[in-house]
Amino acid sequence: MEIKVTRARTDRTRPADTELGFGTLFTDHMFVMDYSREKGWHNPEIKPYQDFLLPPSAMVLHYGQAIFEGLKAYKTEDKKIQLFRARDNFERMNRSARGMCIPELDIDFVMDAMKQLIRMDEKWIPESLGTSLYIRPTIIATDPFLGVRASFTYKFFIILSSVGAYYSEGFNPVKIWVSKDHVRAVRGGVGEFKTAGNYAASLIASEKAVQKGYAQVLWLDAIERKYIEEVGAMNIFFVMKDEIVTPELTGSILPGITRFSVIDLAKKWGMKIAERKISIDDVFDAHAKGKLVDVFGSGTAAVISPVGEIRYGDRAIAIGDGTPGETAMKFYNALTDIQYGKTPDTEGWIEVIN
Ligand SMILES: *Cc1c(COP(=O)(O)O)cnc(C)c1O
Repeated sequence: MEIKVTRARTDRTRPADTELGFGTLFTDHMFVMDYSREKGWHNPEIKPYQDFLLPPSAMVLHYGQAIFEGLKAYKTEDKKIQLFRARDNFERMNRSARGMCIPELDIDFVMDAMKQLIRMDEKWIPESLGTSLYIRPTIIATDPFLGVRASFTYKFFIILSSVGAYYSEGFNPVKIWVSKDHVRAVRGGVGEFKTAGNYAASLIASEKAVQKGYAQVLWLDAIERKYIEEVGAMNIFFVMKDEIVTPELTGSILPGITRFSVIDLAKKWGMKIAERKISIDDVFDAHAKGKLVDVFGSGTAAVISPVGEIRYGDRAIAIGDGTPGETAMKFYNALTDIQYGKTPDTEGWIEVIN
């Protein structure tokens, strides 16, 4: 399939790296492609970033049949553009697609389209450490129809956003609040897919956490309300004296690529790491016994997010001494060194695209 290319007529310039936030500034171009049952995926096009024209009856606006991905392109000191495990994102997108009755993508084709788009918008990739080009592939259901069924037509698009350093104010631990009243997802539901509704469902608990002075929600499982699942939109790791534990993937947890990377590195470094159920009581017990040394979240946006306090009802525990734990630091440095090309990639995670 030939990609039609229309260049933007614009002379916008990228703001200074220190002026960049997250997800507010979009680049000059986007990639768009349509799906119909007759033609499959068709009309691939790179064109100026612009609004969509959608009927108010478009199914995505009513029933949320939508999936997305989030990944980044990084600029190295010697001006290489690097992708980190990008194929894994599109494989996950196809898993999300199957789960949400959305037609799958040809991964090689969309990877090539994304690379072409990034090269065209290279000037939007910020260059200082911690900054990146955030890449948002998305699929939405577009049938103009109010009945409830899977749509017959879809739009796939990729937009790009120049993002600033996540830790512009320092790599500081955050306080997290265990939600007792709300759950993010349930086994048998769609928690393991990156589908729009999961994020809408998480907002009320996030707002309550923020009102109480906490940065993120720690989600427990929906059935027994005791096993830890995720933190905000990140996976979570507990560093005990004798092992690192992360919740096993039970169907309601999003299989994070950063999570897999942490597990791979831990194994490579000879650390003992287990994917298993861990309850909130296990965490408080480990803390009481002095065994809980470090807790951190993992995800593309923050890479690693150290946790400094966990509140569960009227009990709260402090982790560490207010500074990031050694293990969180070690994973953060190792992953970002690979992403920004400061250490050679021995894992086959990096693809240089220029
Ligand atoms: C995207 C996401 C993650 C992290 O996945 P990465 O691939 O590491 O970015 C974790 N949890 C949720 C709910 C997510 O949406």
